[in-house]
This record gives sequence, C-alpha cells and structure tokens, in this order.
Amino acid sequence: DREWPRPAKTRVITVANQKGGVGKTTTSVNLAAALAMHGAQVLVVDLDPQGNASTALGVDHHADVPSMYHVLIEDMPFADVVVASPELPNLYCAPATLHLAGAEIELVSKVARESRLRRALDSYDKTRFDYVLIDCPPSLGLLTLNALVGGDELLIPIQCEYYALEGLSQLIGTVDLVTSHLNPELNVSTILLTMYDARTRLASQVADEVRSHFGEVVLKTVIPRSVRVSEAPSYGQSVMTYDPGSTGALAYSEAASEVAHRWAEVAS
Ligand code: ADP
Ligand code: MG
Repeated sequence: DREWPRPAKTRVITVANQKGGVGKTTTSVNLAAALAMHGAQVLVVDLDPQGNASTALGVDHHADVPSMYHVLIEDMPFADVVVASPELPNLYCAPATLHLAGAEIELVSKVARESRLRRALDSYDKTRFDYVLIDCPPSLGLLTLNALVGGDELLIPIQCEYYALEGLSQLIGTVDLVTSHLNPELNVSTILLTMYDARTRLASQVADEVRSHFGEVVLKTVIPRSVRVSEAPSYGQSVMTYDPGSTGALAYSEAASEVAHRWAEVAS
C-alpha cells in the first residue's frame, strides 16, 4: 500500500460528540485502521465504558484487563495497558472496561480531575506513535472532558440527520471553556459527516448546513451508510480489513487520507 505523510510529532486526536450513535467509535476505529494500513503507527484510546472500540479492534476488555480505568483512577502507567490489536501490525489499543462507568463518579474527588488523561499521556513515551485517537463516551462528563484536555485536535463526527446540529453549540461551548482554562492547544481540526444517505434530500441539506457553518474543517469525504460498516464490529474487525473494497471502507480510507495530507500541508 502507498504510504501517506507521517506527522513530525504525534497527533493526539479526540473524537467526540455528546450524542450517542453518531459514528464516534466507527470513525475512531476505521480512521485508525486506514492510517495504520498506510504506514502509520496508531494507538486507539478507548474511553467509553461500553468498550466498543476495544471490541471492534479485537482487543480483550473483560473486567480484569488492565484498562483506562486503572490509568485514570489508579495511576497505572499508560504503557501497562497498551496492547496490540490483532487487526494490523502497527495498530494498538488502550482498552476500556465497564469499570470506567464508575470512573465518571470517582474522578469527581480526584486532584486535577480534568487533566488526568493529559498527565498520563504526557508521562508516556508516545513518540513511537504517529496518531493517538481517543474515542469518547456519549456525554460531556469528566471522561470526555479528560479527552478534550488530553488532545491537541478535536474531530467531531456528525450524523446527517435532522437533529444533527442540535447539541453542537453545547460541545463547542465546552471546547471554548477547555481552551481558555485547561488546554489552549485544543482546536476543532476536523468534522466528518457520517451515515450519509445519498437518496434523501435531508442528508444533503444537513451536509450543506454543516459546511456553511464550519467551512474548511469539514472533510470533503462523507461516509455513506453501509451495511458492511455496521457488520464489521461483530467480527472484531474494522471495515477496513473486514471488507476493504466496500463503499464504507473506501470512504474511511479517503477520509483518513485527507486527515493525513491536510495536516502535512498546514505543517509545511
Ligand atoms: P457512537 O460511537 O457515536 O455511539 P457508533 O460508531 O457506535 O456511534 O455507531 C452507531 C451505530 O451505527 C453502530 O451500530 C454502527 O455500527 C452504526 N454505523 C456507524 N457508521 C455507520 C455507517 N457508515 N453505515 C452503517 N452503519 C453505521
Ligand atoms: Mg461509541
């Protein structure tokens, strides 16, 4: 496979949207796999107690596995939870377990409760990774806040449906609070339109509206609705390896290419 430009410094990309079911996990996993297929070293950090990203990457996340819970709550070194995904040789995962559901509450009484992921990532030698993608739970609680404080870039997946923009102002408001108080580096670098149904006018109206509102940061590539995309996780796979020729895999590959190349242009 053709290699894409690799960043000079690790890019930590938080994938967040407090709505459930908009494609956060699907996007995290498939962008990660696409980038890995083109030569990058990639780590997916699963911050959702459901552990869907861990499942999709074929990574064990039963209750006893060392996980992001231990990193955030028990100061376990990051290196102790990172495992290789059987998907691809240069793809890794820091799994989530159901214990993380409790972390949302346990974090409240911790010192620097919003910055625990950042601290853990800062003391971890992540230079071997080109990309760290952080998959967030569907809320604006402390786990997502940790991901916003821990990331350099925010990628927002937006599902092309009627209520798509509802709630986004709340997310952007949270981002503004984070940039003014906790992490000035964070920028909304990327918006990805997901589950696009080309047969409906609504989808194209939503896409137009998102583009006129957010401009350049919206990727040209849109991810179509595709059965293959939704089937892949049940085989412990990304769609990139489950069915590389499917429309969903091709779209995620295009989107990942944009993510890799755009930044190379900005950086040069
Ligand atoms: P989130 O992480 O935001 O909750 P998911 O990535 O889990 O969202 O996606 C929600 C559901 O939609 C999942 O069942 C997933 O398999 C399905 N899905 C996501 N993207 C697509 C797509 N492009 N085509 C078809 N189904 C999709
Ligand atoms: Mg998810």
